[in-house]
Amino acid sequence: MDSNTNPPASSKYIFITGGVLSSLGKGIASASLGLLLKQRGYSVTIMKLDPYINVDPGTMNPFQHGEVYVTDDGAETDLDLGHYERFLGESLQRHNNTTAGQVYYEVITKERKGHYLGKTVQVIPHITDEIKKRIKFFDGKYNFIIIEIGGTVGDIESLPFLEAQRQLGLEKGPQSVLNLHLTFVPYIKGAGELKTKPTQHSVKALMESGIRPDILLCRCEHKISKDIRSKIALFCNVDDQAVIDVPDAETTIYEVPLMFAKRNLDVLILNKLKLKVKPIKINTWTKFVHRIKNPKYQVNVGLVGKYTQYRDSYKSILEAFIHAGSINNTHVNVELIDSEQITLENVAEKLHNLDGVLVGPGFGSRGIDGKIISIQYLRENKIPFFGICLGMQCAVIEFARNVCNLINAHSAEFAKTENNVIDLMDEQKKIKDKGGTMRLGAYPCIIKPNTIAYDAYKTTQISERHRHRYELNNNFRDLLQSKGMIMSGLSPDGQLVEIIELSGHPWFVGVQFHPELKSRAVTGSPLFISFINAALKYRKSTNNSRS
Ligand code: GLN
Repeated sequence: MDSNTNPPASSKYIFITGGVLSSLGKGIASASLGLLLKQRGYSVTIMKLDPYINVDPGTMNPFQHGEVYVTDDGAETDLDLGHYERFLGESLQRHNNTTAGQVYYEVITKERKGHYLGKTVQVIPHITDEIKKRIKFFDGKYNFIIIEIGGTVGDIESLPFLEAQRQLGLEKGPQSVLNLHLTFVPYIKGAGELKTKPTQHSVKALMESGIRPDILLCRCEHKISKDIRSKIALFCNVDDQAVIDVPDAETTIYEVPLMFAKRNLDVLILNKLKLKVKPIKINTWTKFVHRIKNPKYQVNVGLVGKYTQYRDSYKSILEAFIHAGSINNTHVNVELIDSEQITLENVAEKLHNLDGVLVGPGFGSRGIDGKIISIQYLRENKIPFFGICLGMQCAVIEFARNVCNLINAHSAEFAKTENNVIDLMDEQKKIKDKGGTMRLGAYPCIIKPNTIAYDAYKTTQISERHRHRYELNNNFRDLLQSKGMIMSGLSPDGQLVEIIELSGHPWFVGVQFHPELKSRAVTGSPLFISFINAALKYRKSTNNSRS
């Protein structure tokens, strides 16, 4: 259920900044806090402000930035939006992510149109006004607007965003705006001590921007004693109870909301903002975490792709496995396999011990051969196969080459041949700009009954998110079908193939869309749930015959 059904008169703003170093988990912290406030009966949305100059991460390499998270409305956004959606269980939109690139683009476009009437256009007030306008987009629509500011306090790029935060705090007052700061409290082994100095410096840097933190979230490997918390409070000018230690989660990031709840973070926030502390509904979440921590079964699943050195490139897929695993009471061990290392000679050795393999999305020709070789092995050995986007396209190429005897079958993305079984649709052929021009966002798909897809979704009408240029070439549909490929999902006009399956294989599914993007904690994604179930069955059936 979307939580903005009962619009509040004015919203409360919670800013989350980060200090000391990056990768402390600001995204998870924002998402966890959002979940708690929602489970206390308040409506919540979460925004990410990214200080980089790219207009969106769509043109960035996954090694640089990790996964690009696509929203229903087709925005290519920061992967933290994935955390927000997974924790909140709600779809966000384009406006939930703003970059410095978008802000400057807008201001410069207005300047060219003469909008500023001869004034000198400056960071303050013009850039900061544009940032504030974007932050206030959801004003009045939610009880809480949580705003995560990307980067680390002290970075040059963050300054206009912090200035906008400061201005908004002054404008709305302390009853409407709270500043949370996430820092790091390192444990120095030699001294056997937790050190508070980096936190003190980080808060000092924040105060130089005119922002006084109300609450400090202190990341640490171990729990922080009361004494040390009091010391941090004294040196950083906050109340004792506003210093919250956030030790590493034991097993899963999904424990973080429970950890926050145990430390009363939500209650502290509601008290500070003079809001009623309504009872919390956290049972379903607690059960979900319990299932993750106490699985009955396990499966080994491969993820074949070329971005395997950087796990964030496959963030939503890895999370979707956790959700699907919990629903199947199964721990999913995911082995990331570099497709560039797979050859005809070693494919059996690399894949034979796996209970299922997902061949992942991607762009460019590097690693394609390894993907095609893997798919042939999975098809012939009847091992569960799940192809997502490029993975599905590779499955079509493999089938065209090895079953339909079109030896030079390929995608037009990699080689122009007379057998481009994957090709550009006409409207994509006209496009010259690379940014934001793919088939992006949610599209409906109609599912054929009596297929694996129908069995998974239990409905004929679904909507899933896309991010690609190429499509299955309709000129080859009849041939592929005549050899046993099933087109189990089509666009409503029948023109685009969205899902393929194979007759005679226990679980062979390729999808042109990205089901991982809509996999939410607790509920999961139907196809991932079905895939893990198939992997479990495969494991049981082969348990005695494999080494
Ligand atoms: N490169 C392919 C395309 O553009 C697949 C994209 C993807 O896997 N997301 O169609």
